[in-house]
Amino acid sequence: VSRPADLRPAAELAANKPHGTRAKYNGGCKCMLCRAANSAYSCMRDAERRAGRGAGIKSAHRARRHILLLAERFGVGYKSVARDARVGRSIVFEIRSGTRTRIRASTERKILMVDESAAKAGTAIPAAPTWKKIEWLLSEGFTKKSLCERLGYRTNNLALGRETILARNARRVDALYRKLRVGAW
Ligand SMILES: [Zn+2]
Repeated sequence: VSRPADLRPAAELAANKPHGTRAKYNGGCKCMLCRAANSAYSCMRDAERRAGRGAGIKSAHRARRHILLLAERFGVGYKSVARDARVGRSIVFEIRSGTRTRIRASTERKILMVDESAAKAGTAIPAAPTWKKIEWLLSEGFTKKSLCERLGYRTNNLALGRETILARNARRVDALYRKLRVGAW
């Protein structure tokens, strides 16, 4: 009986192996011990592959969306994301541009933890999210005067920009909002 040429090395390798080994199975033995050895090996490899996909490496989709959102809503650039997340600049850049589609789970976690506080204090950012918080506070009964006092402003009329405001002002409002919101509940 002639075997295909590529099977010969495996068969020769298996000739001296005991039963119950994968080498013997690959050499052509399909006895119960050799089948069991082969199936145990396959299970282990599958489990390793699953673990590698699930815990280790994942799609960069969520991280990318977060990077874009930070830029759009808070003027946070990719360099600031990299700095705060302690992830390499080139990696963050590639995730943002979409050229890097798979990342470590730990990289995703670090990037998702970056928030608007990564914006430089002097950066002008869209004012809408801040005004939403102010409107909520006003609806809860705080007056503009009392909010100004709590925010440490000398004026009484909340003279913040409608289109854009400085990141430091947004941060102050956000801190107050979080504090009062907790108190209100
Ligand atoms: Zn066997």
